[in-house]
Amino acid sequence: MELNHWIAGRSTPSKDGDRLDVHEPATGRVYAHVAAGGAAEVDAAVAAAREAFPAWSALRPSERARWLERLASALEDHAPALASAEARDSGKPLRLAREIEIPRAIANLRFFAHAATQFASESHHGEAGLNYTLRSPLGVVAAISPWNLPLYLLTWKIAPALAAGNTVVAKPSEITPWTATLLGEIAAGIGFPAGVLNIVHGRGPDAGEPLVVHPDVKAVTFTGSTAVGRRIAGLASPLLKKVSLELGGKNATLVFADSPWRTHLDVLVRSAFQNSGQICLCGSRLLLERSIHDEFLAAFVERAQALRVGDPLDEATAMGPLVSQAQFDKVVAAIARAVDEGGRVVSGGRALAREGWFVEPTVIDGLHAGCATNREEIFGPIVTVQAFDDEAEALALANTGDYGLSASVWTRDVGRAHRLAAALRVGMVWINTWMQRDLRTPFGGAGASGLGREGGWEAMRFFTEPKNVGICLENCE
Ligand code: NAD
Repeated sequence: MELNHWIAGRSTPSKDGDRLDVHEPATGRVYAHVAAGGAAEVDAAVAAAREAFPAWSALRPSERARWLERLASALEDHAPALASAEARDSGKPLRLAREIEIPRAIANLRFFAHAATQFASESHHGEAGLNYTLRSPLGVVAAISPWNLPLYLLTWKIAPALAAGNTVVAKPSEITPWTATLLGEIAAGIGFPAGVLNIVHGRGPDAGEPLVVHPDVKAVTFTGSTAVGRRIAGLASPLLKKVSLELGGKNATLVFADSPWRTHLDVLVRSAFQNSGQICLCGSRLLLERSIHDEFLAAFVERAQALRVGDPLDEATAMGPLVSQAQFDKVVAAIARAVDEGGRVVSGGRALAREGWFVEPTVIDGLHAGCATNREEIFGPIVTVQAFDDEAEALALANTGDYGLSASVWTRDVGRAHRLAAALRVGMVWINTWMQRDLRTPFGGAGASGLGREGGWEAMRFFTEPKNVGICLENCE
């Protein structure tokens, strides 16, 4: 199978025919080739987006909303194909793709279709006059996304950009290019205006960087690793481009003895291992009140061991492989490092003896807060365990390290829940739940987890340029 760029509404191979292998994580074998773009493809895509911008931005918001609705419905019609493409491409269980990620990708388009017609700007009625804010689309914007939730994170970026009247050049991850290619195909199939949404595939340095620095690209929305986020910030800032960075995490799960943890074990296990731990919001540091440490750990490990690891296309599979050889090597090395640092593997810890990039759900106890295992993002099915004596210690442990994406707190004490929600140095906190999302709320992290917020009006504001207009109503000096 050959996966091409989508430029100006057409499936387009790379000018020089350059392409990359795409692997199936469940077998490690090459199942497709994706066009490898560079500056030439970026130039063509940006030119197409620039040409499409005047007409798209001039549409009424309700007309743009209708296009996004139509695209959402078309994705719905192709949902089974999208789910199996995502499962094959990324290695996530088909059930997860079908029941959560593809529906959520569609919901992103619908949500921002509504946002297009609901978005409003502020007006301030002062003593003598009125000031109001005009918000205009920026022009051509770049959306660069990772492999872990390929279609979900891509639509999370392009939907608000398009709703606000911009045209887009998207650069999906070269590791999971299939659903993005299908998105281009489906958009073309419904006659989505050519050039409004363009997709350029390729490696980050070859295709991503020319896109970031392109003079006609006004803003960059990026989700991915902190290292690449820093690089993009370094390239875009001197050019005075707007940048939104959603980066890595090392999230803590704080479990207090008073919490109803027994009834929430399934969610707690999911929060650690969903998508093989390859979700930026997964809790990879389990902080347990000392009095429940042993009992909790035994119950948690029992559930973790019951997770069926295997072929993502098998309906009974709970956990698939890691996405790539590089990710597999990183996770296996991280387990060895944890043992070197004095960690005790209480569950898992090994690669599966079969083809593909499978690693068991792994639980490691006995590491101190400051070690590399507890500070660096691993992005795999590994959770470490630390014990705490009181709320202050739990907070200090949770706030250790440079990342600050999310945390979950498990307690029945309402006062403690609110105190910790305020004191945790993260962008998102869940109380007695995990990953509960309302698309209107700001999404993003603190510290090394990013800069800026996505979601709801935050995204619509990011993708628009505000202009203040002041009017004298009477007796203005
Ligand atoms: P990555 O940073 O390697 O790549 C992300 C995207 O950036 C890919 O499309 C890649 O091709 C591109 N890229 C790479 N180098 C580039 C460069 N120099 N210039 C421009 N683009 C470049 O990340 P990944 O491995 O694909 O994804 C995993 C990471 O994403 C993890 O760190 C995870 O925490 C993070 N993530 C964060 C969130 C969030 O919302 N905060 C969500 C999902 C994933």
